[in-house]
Amino acid sequence: MAQNIQISSLHPCKWIKGKAIGSGSFGTVHLAMTRATGALFVVKTARTDAAVVSMKNEADILESLDSPHVVKCLGKDVMRGQDNRDRPAIFMEYVAGGSLWDVVEKFGGSLDEEVIRLYTRQILHGLHYLHNKGIVHCDLKCKNVLLASDGNVKLGDFGCAKRLAGSKDMPILARSWGSISGTPLWMAPEVLRNEGLDTKSDIWSLGCTLIEMATGRPPWACDISSPEATLVKIVTSKETPQFPKHFSEEGLDFLGRCFQRDLKRRWTAEELLNHPFISPMSTKQDAVGSPESVLMSAFHDDESDSDVDEIGCNYVCELTRKNPFSGNCHMEEQMVKNHPEDSYLVSSGNWITVR
Ligand code: ATP
Repeated sequence: MAQNIQISSLHPCKWIKGKAIGSGSFGTVHLAMTRATGALFVVKTARTDAAVVSMKNEADILESLDSPHVVKCLGKDVMRGQDNRDRPAIFMEYVAGGSLWDVVEKFGGSLDEEVIRLYTRQILHGLHYLHNKGIVHCDLKCKNVLLASDGNVKLGDFGCAKRLAGSKDMPILARSWGSISGTPLWMAPEVLRNEGLDTKSDIWSLGCTLIEMATGRPPWACDISSPEATLVKIVTSKETPQFPKHFSEEGLDFLGRCFQRDLKRRWTAEELLNHPFISPMSTKQDAVGSPESVLMSAFHDDESDSDVDEIGCNYVCELTRKNPFSGNCHMEEQMVKNHPEDSYLVSSGNWITVR
């Protein structure tokens, strides 16, 4: 349906704004309809002045993308908000199933593993496309993956996305990103440590997204009674979030590949597309039985690692939700410290300082 919507029909007098169908920390998403054809699309508007930068970033990145696994941008405009202020708006295709988070809730709080495999494969196709273009999504989680009624899954919410400096030939860690945003519990350790951004940082968040689909809970859910301690754990320990107990061997191995703390060991989207958990070519029997199998217990490897992660960062994280760790946040790089003994976390109100 989105393909039928002409840019000209997005002129303000040519479409009708419907009810809000979603909202996040940055934007409110309304259903909309063209007067000429009755075709549906959505319009996302910035909720606050602070969200304007994120919305502009999202529009800029989305306009450069064209993939069946990424929500399509139809155009952008400036619209007058309820407070009578002009704010950017993005027009996007309507993805009728809503977010995977909504879907998990509607289907009893967890998804069947077969469905998780299907959705994960499509998310990976989307990530592979982005990463080849040198773009890191930076905020992958069930709430930011949209499900079409035909079962197609699309990446949405590019408000935190970053273009790595240069192309895919750039060194692994691009340090020129200045500030990062995302949702702390889904963030990779190297991102929280302020070491730089890598396409593989999305792969860690992909693992977190799988856990959400399988359990209906955020990653690290067993630990969030003490959010500060959880962040310290993500940043400094060798632990991973708890894997779903009922997952198959392939599923557990797949998660092990995503949750490698050593970036060199963490698999790329391209490698994961060939993993038996999601590869359409593989059967369960082949994958587990073959001596050539990739199921080599990724996390046991990890246990032999002798290097201990250290906090080497100092930055401020502005939190925009009540639960500071499952809400989206923005972190401004301040300065880099390499004194792990100075490391501590302070949170007050809507702010948390991670040192
Ligand atoms: P966040 O707090 O994660 O940054 P946000 O303010 O950037 O959120 P979005 O995540 O883009 O907002 O959208 C909020 C919700 O609106 C989504 O979780 C989803 O339910 C709904 N939504 C967004 N885009 C679409 C779309 N294209 N089609 C259908 N529903 C959508």
